[in-house]
Amino acid sequence: MHIVRVATEDGPAWGAVEDGEVRRLPDGPFGSLEAAEAVGLLDDLTLLAPAAPTKIVCVGRNYAAHAAEHGADVPTQPLLFLKPPSSVIAPGAEIVLPELSSRVEHECELALVVGRRCRSVTENRAWEQVLGITCGNDVTARDLQRSDSQWTRGKGFDTFCPLGPWIVTGHGEEEVGRLEVSCTVNGVLRQKASTEQMVFPPAFLIAYISQVMTLEPGDVIMTGTPSGVGPLQPGDQVTVEVEGVGKLTNPVT
Ligand code: ZN
Repeated sequence: MHIVRVATEDGPAWGAVEDGEVRRLPDGPFGSLEAAEAVGLLDDLTLLAPAAPTKIVCVGRNYAAHAAEHGADVPTQPLLFLKPPSSVIAPGAEIVLPELSSRVEHECELALVVGRRCRSVTENRAWEQVLGITCGNDVTARDLQRSDSQWTRGKGFDTFCPLGPWIVTGHGEEEVGRLEVSCTVNGVLRQKASTEQMVFPPAFLIAYISQVMTLEPGDVIMTGTPSGVGPLQPGDQVTVEVEGVGKLTNPVT
């Protein structure tokens, strides 16, 4: 199932996409998932970010080749950091380059959307806590990430977390462990890898994170970026693609 969040006259609404049409999910994405009346055609509707997280938990250096391109070691345990909910933007919304930075980069990532409140789950119960997957762009002010001793500023600007275009449900744990993740800027390929190359796989990450903090429905886990990160300039169009999900495109301003 493809779950979308769309703008309506009555505010944001959750829906399921069926044959190009969006049908309302009256219980939202965490309920029965029984679709009701039509909201409109997918092509006519404005998509919103398909999650309203209380937190975005990110994993640094989860692909060895990306750690290597920054001269960093692969961590022996997942390296966690947070992005604020205020950084989330919709598909098609502008990534705004902040004046404080002179080097903002894209990071394409497989994003997991949590479906159930959970804490201290074991790895073999971890995947059932996930509602589905989407595309994420962990936009990063690389110069500030380097100059600060931690990453709050470098990762936390408004517009630095494009998500979407929708949540896709139904992927099994094994299937999600071998999806292609890629990034293009103005149609030119910058990053491409398989989730097989992750140092710590999704279920391990969920279990690990849930030992630290309670995960809430709608929380997002960004699973790390492959090698090939690079700068964004005003006027660029950056697209993150996750196999089996689709494309998340955002203009840069
Ligand atoms: Zn990242």
